[in-house]
Amino acid sequence: MNLFIALMMVTSSWSWASTFVGNGGNAGDIEWQVTLKQINMAVAGLQDYAPSDARLCTCNQTYSNSSTCDALNSLNAEQRLYCGATLKAQLPQLAPLVRDNRTVRVSWTQDQIDVLENGQRRAVDAVTDRTQGTVTLNADHFRSLNPSERVFLISHELMHLTSLDGKPLTDEGPQGPFTGAGGSRALVNAMAAALVIQSEESGAFDRYRRTLNRPQGWKQNWISISAGSGSQSSHSVFSVTDYRGFSLRYTRFLTNLGLQAEYAEREGDRTPISQVNAHEKVTTMRAGLSYRLFPFKDPLKVYGQSHLVFSANVDFVRGTYNLKDAMNDETATSDRVGASGAIRYEFPVVWGFWVSVAETYESLAGPYTVAGVNIENEKNIFATSIGASYAF
Ligand SMILES: [Zn+2]
Repeated sequence: MNLFIALMMVTSSWSWASTFVGNGGNAGDIEWQVTLKQINMAVAGLQDYAPSDARLCTCNQTYSNSSTCDALNSLNAEQRLYCGATLKAQLPQLAPLVRDNRTVRVSWTQDQIDVLENGQRRAVDAVTDRTQGTVTLNADHFRSLNPSERVFLISHELMHLTSLDGKPLTDEGPQGPFTGAGGSRALVNAMAAALVIQSEESGAFDRYRRTLNRPQGWKQNWISISAGSGSQSSHSVFSVTDYRGFSLRYTRFLTNLGLQAEYAEREGDRTPISQVNAHEKVTTMRAGLSYRLFPFKDPLKVYGQSHLVFSANVDFVRGTYNLKDAMNDETATSDRVGASGAIRYEFPVVWGFWVSVAETYESLAGPYTVAGVNIENEKNIFATSIGASYAF
């Protein structure tokens, strides 16, 4: 297990950073894509309202006790109507931003996001670059929000990519009946809250609940257990040819390339001659590289998270062979270094758990010398196993 700890120490000092169209390969991509789809549903739902409809910027029952409605409950009648009319006016600019996940780029960071405002440094949840069309988000923070909070945050940010009265819609200065230095920010927040409410009323949160609960394939740490059976086709009459076994594995992925350490055991029996029993137990410590491949394109679908993992290992193998009959009981051990490979298909279940099937090609053990007989295993072992993983 020392190897296991060493792997964790080596890899935990590595970090990742990427500017990426949120395609499912990074922490937060799934939440980002779902949030855009939820805002898209809200935009579609808002088409039915007249610009003068006071319900547009009014809190509903679901959010009556939520901070989401703070931005709406504080509005006076004039502000409420202005909010609704402005929201309707911005929809033609907002709609293309949320129609797919390619128009607006997301830039993930693991750092705290600070902005300079009136000479003061202030921590914010997101920052939007209007010229680049990029929203920068802290991945951990974004993922920690609930879906309503994410729709609120991204709706607010996307509003900064729209224009009002021919000027960029910012957080600064007064806007219509929203007076004072923070007037424009209050308007943007009120419209963002209205989009949260419309998302809920359009069924957008229910629709993507399962998608958000599904295990996500980009996770870096995988703890796995698997069990299976395998066989070798040896010509030696004393070789044990059929095995059953299990393995415990830790894999640490750095993007789609990973390192793993595994402990595996297998054993089997054979009756080479009547009244004689051969038993072999093989323990293997292995370490190597894994590469994961996502063959499907839509990360929001269950099969989109499923993936193949190709592994190659160096094996440190210890075999113990026992031959027993009515008079004799002899045991021999043998150590060797070998190699193994595996191809595994991982499928998401729920709560971070995955199931897998794997085909492995494993190192043989031996040779053994028992009762003056040389027992040589000639062929490597093919095994099939099923497994379960927890990824975090
Ligand atoms: Zn803002």
